[in-house]
Amino acid sequence: MLDKKDLRKIFGRAAYEVQLFKEKDFIRKQCPHCGTFFWTLNPDRKDCGDTNCIGGYTFIGKGSGKSWDFHDTVKNWCKFFEDEGHTRITEYSTVARWRDDIEFTIASIACFQPNVLNGTIKPPANPLVLPQPCIRFGGKGFNDIDNVGRTGRHLTSFIMGGQHAFNSKKLGYKGYWMDRCIELDFQFLTQVLAIPESKITLREDIWLGGGNFGPCLESFCDGLEIVNSVFMQYEVLPDDSHRQMEMTVVDVGWGVERIGWYATGTPSVYEATFGPVLTKMKKTVGLKLDTDLLNKYYVLSGLLNVDEVDIKVERQKVAQKIGIDYHELERVL
Ligand SMILES: [Zn+2]
Repeated sequence: MLDKKDLRKIFGRAAYEVQLFKEKDFIRKQCPHCGTFFWTLNPDRKDCGDTNCIGGYTFIGKGSGKSWDFHDTVKNWCKFFEDEGHTRITEYSTVARWRDDIEFTIASIACFQPNVLNGTIKPPANPLVLPQPCIRFGGKGFNDIDNVGRTGRHLTSFIMGGQHAFNSKKLGYKGYWMDRCIELDFQFLTQVLAIPESKITLREDIWLGGGNFGPCLESFCDGLEIVNSVFMQYEVLPDDSHRQMEMTVVDVGWGVERIGWYATGTPSVYEATFGPVLTKMKKTVGLKLDTDLLNKYYVLSGLLNVDEVDIKVERQKVAQKIGIDYHELERVL
């Protein structure tokens, strides 16, 4: 069976070098921490921008100068893509629509699998956007419960900003492909979310699932992955060789809550998403928090992914970094 390691040999620089990178003279570098190749406009940049590689989130307490609440974020995100020729469609149910291998909608693209992707049913619009409610509390690879409250960024129920375009000569679908997609995504990050261009890194990766695969570019800023732009392009054949899919699909998943979090720079994604509700709950139960300590803690909380590290060991390191006794930190949390 093909895995990402085999596929990395297929995808080199050329598979990722979109028009925007050429026009703006992006530089391709390799991260010394994780070995991933990434693209940047900053000649001095060394790391890929992932939380683990830069040692935490560096936008906490700063944000990008926006005071959006969650509804503003959804509205601003949809409006940008609508102005750029996308049709906003109505969200689907959180109960899986057609796929029988999952119970719940775990990503926006799942709403179109398999019937739109196999050409049986026409996409409702092309290109399209939808702020799709998704649930991840069960099933292989789709359970984020243990990370909720630990990393500051995980949620079991969230809105995936789905940006999709479908391309097929046979069916006459004319969406768009990598050049236009990355141009749009970079434009949203820099012009709407107001992130300085030189702060953004685009990491090369490969998406693989359901017998298809393709290159993807993950956009990071200050330790936070805000969007993953996936290009479904190849199908795996029984002998592990592969061929170009007749229909290629742009499958971009925006972390809508993360957009709002980055915009406002609150300590965690929860304040940015549930702001007034959290404030009321804290008031109701009379909870007084050590804000200074928590702000320091949340900068480092991105390192506490239970899928990747031993939480106790990492928390001890975090306590040391912020200069507090480990047991005292545990008590506060
Ligand atoms: Zn890295």
